[in-house]
Amino acid sequence: MSKVNPFEMAQQQLMDCAKILKLDQGVVDILMQPQRQIQVSIPVKMDNGTTKVFQGFRVQYNNALGPYKGGIRYHPNETIDTVRALSAWMTWKCAVLNLPLGGGKGGIICNPKEMSKGELERLSRNYIRAIWKNIGPDTDVPAPDVYTDGQIMAWMMDEYSVIQGKNQFGLLTGKPLIIGGSLGRGDSTAKGGMYTLREAAKELNIDLKKAKVAVLGFGNAGSFAASLIEEMFGAKVVAVTDSKGGIYDEKGLDIKAVFEHKKQTKSVVGYKGLKKLTNEETLALPVDIIVAAAPDEGAINEIVAPTIKAKVICELANGPTTPTADAILYKNGVHVIPDFLCNAGGVTVSYYEMVQNMYMHYWTLDDVYAKLDAAMTKSYHEVLAASKAYKVNMRQAAYVVAVSRVVEAMKVRGWV
Ligand code: GLU
Repeated sequence: MSKVNPFEMAQQQLMDCAKILKLDQGVVDILMQPQRQIQVSIPVKMDNGTTKVFQGFRVQYNNALGPYKGGIRYHPNETIDTVRALSAWMTWKCAVLNLPLGGGKGGIICNPKEMSKGELERLSRNYIRAIWKNIGPDTDVPAPDVYTDGQIMAWMMDEYSVIQGKNQFGLLTGKPLIIGGSLGRGDSTAKGGMYTLREAAKELNIDLKKAKVAVLGFGNAGSFAASLIEEMFGAKVVAVTDSKGGIYDEKGLDIKAVFEHKKQTKSVVGYKGLKKLTNEETLALPVDIIVAAAPDEGAINEIVAPTIKAKVICELANGPTTPTADAILYKNGVHVIPDFLCNAGGVTVSYYEMVQNMYMHYWTLDDVYAKLDAAMTKSYHEVLAASKAYKVNMRQAAYVVAVSRVVEAMKVRGWV
């Protein structure tokens, strides 16, 4: 899946932060490893009568601030190291938004594109049977992630409810609306990222109406972001990519038409006969803003970083930039809105979903967006202030804010 080991990347970022905050060794030792890692073998009866055994993980990184929280990914190239890294990033993500939640992540090695609906349902239910003792509304609350969706959440919640003998809507978030989902959860990651982009543009005096934007990755977050960039700011999306390649039109792309093209042909490539670009070529385009939304950890490395002309990078995906590339971007004055701040809109609305489930009272879309806007804006400015106070880049600043909160909770709880 990736050229770098994402967990080593996450650990390196944390070590960086430990130095800035001068953390004690005992604290660092706790924060460098997950508290618990669960690996399960999940047998599934396939449609052809055979039984196939899948490997599943749930990594519970840190719960000093509250129940573990984080998505479940279904991916053929899933590894324990990816899940570990993502569970660490979930911990910092919840902390930087000041949510009363810890961090966790799950994954199953499987290719959902090659499985029938029935097989996926049995896999999802059997995963819950394997891990149900370790999760729950006040212990560990999963959510959708790469190649999982509301339907999969519904099956999982139902299985857990059957085991518990009562409805447990609060087991996980990202559910369909009819069974306790929250309005606004679907596009919340992209929306949250756009609020931070708006604040960054104010800080850097960028007129978003005139801005040219490249969006890398045209999945859920990327395609929503591309539409929002036009809708919210009137900016021009001039380039988009997906796993097959990229397209560029300096006059601006019609995002709805690109979306239709992708729906029909499974890729943005080939749209209006535009030349196919590589990821590297797209990153080097003359644009003001790059939205990094492709699930490709470490794609912005030390080779492509020096070619980047954009003034802002919005990391809607997790871990797109390597630590070496980070240093180059900072030196070149590129303002990176780091992943666990930029893409925290998803888990923030997940938290709103948990609150609504507990109260059994549901908010309007305007309520959700207004709260999300206020939360993302506040966190962005806290990170910006830390970056100025400590004279560090935005990622290091986000770590400083997040890790300080987790450490404060660990100390007051008597863990260190
Ligand atoms: N999977 C999303 C993320 O990585 C959301 C997690 C959640 O809502 O718990 O942030």
